[in-house]
Amino acid sequence: MKIVVGHLYPEYLNIYADRGNIAVLARRAAWRGHELEVRPISAGAAIEPGVHDLLYIGGGQDREQALVAHDLAGKRDQVLAAAAGGAAVLAVCGGYQLLGRFYRFADGEELPGVGLFPLHTIAGERRMIGDVLLEVELEPDERRTIAGFENHAGRTKLDEGAEPLGRVVAGFGNDGESGAEGCRVGRALGTYLHGPLLPRNPWLADWLLAQALAHRSGGEPPSFAELDDGLEREAHAVSARRARARGGR
Ligand code: GLN
Repeated sequence: MKIVVGHLYPEYLNIYADRGNIAVLARRAAWRGHELEVRPISAGAAIEPGVHDLLYIGGGQDREQALVAHDLAGKRDQVLAAAAGGAAVLAVCGGYQLLGRFYRFADGEELPGVGLFPLHTIAGERRMIGDVLLEVELEPDERRTIAGFENHAGRTKLDEGAEPLGRVVAGFGNDGESGAEGCRVGRALGTYLHGPLLPRNPWLADWLLAQALAHRSGGEPPSFAELDDGLEREAHAVSARRARARGGR
């Protein structure tokens, strides 16, 4: 099956090689006989209803975020419609912040967000940098870990009742104090974790592919045959060890 991925602002939001997430999705789809078609969505381009099975937005410095925020906010209804229509979403760091309600810089300037995720972000003085380990449960009784790297000034506050992506085992997470990291709304995931994220968390890549295929087919997310993920698991273990060495929660 063909999976259509809308890659938002690839020329601006691609810090820490977040583009590697797309490469992982493409290869893991191909290894299962599916084709991943990646379509850039840049400033001024519309997000056609129902076209994308997955929307992806990477991270960026405040400057790059400021360059795209107003255009992205202008796409608010289209992003919300895509997610409401069952498309999967992966938003990393700066992209994650811009899918909340707003991101306020330390000097008070505020970037509008899309409001897909029930949260807001306010930049603090000290940057939150280092390896992170999370415990997540995207499916009932399927407790998994996600390992990655964070570097953000933003402190993200989830609304009351909002679902985080996971619980911080080691690292800062959304704000360095709530113990929550990221946000989940249905098939939409937001996270601070770079790395890039997916090479060291192959199960998460497969989860996203399964959601995207479910959107394409209109059916249930498929399960996949296992791949030889030895290298990916080793990368995960290295990242998790480094995060734990920082001091757990
Ligand atoms: N500029 C944002 C912050 O510092 C996001 C950084 C990023 O995408 N790594 O919080």
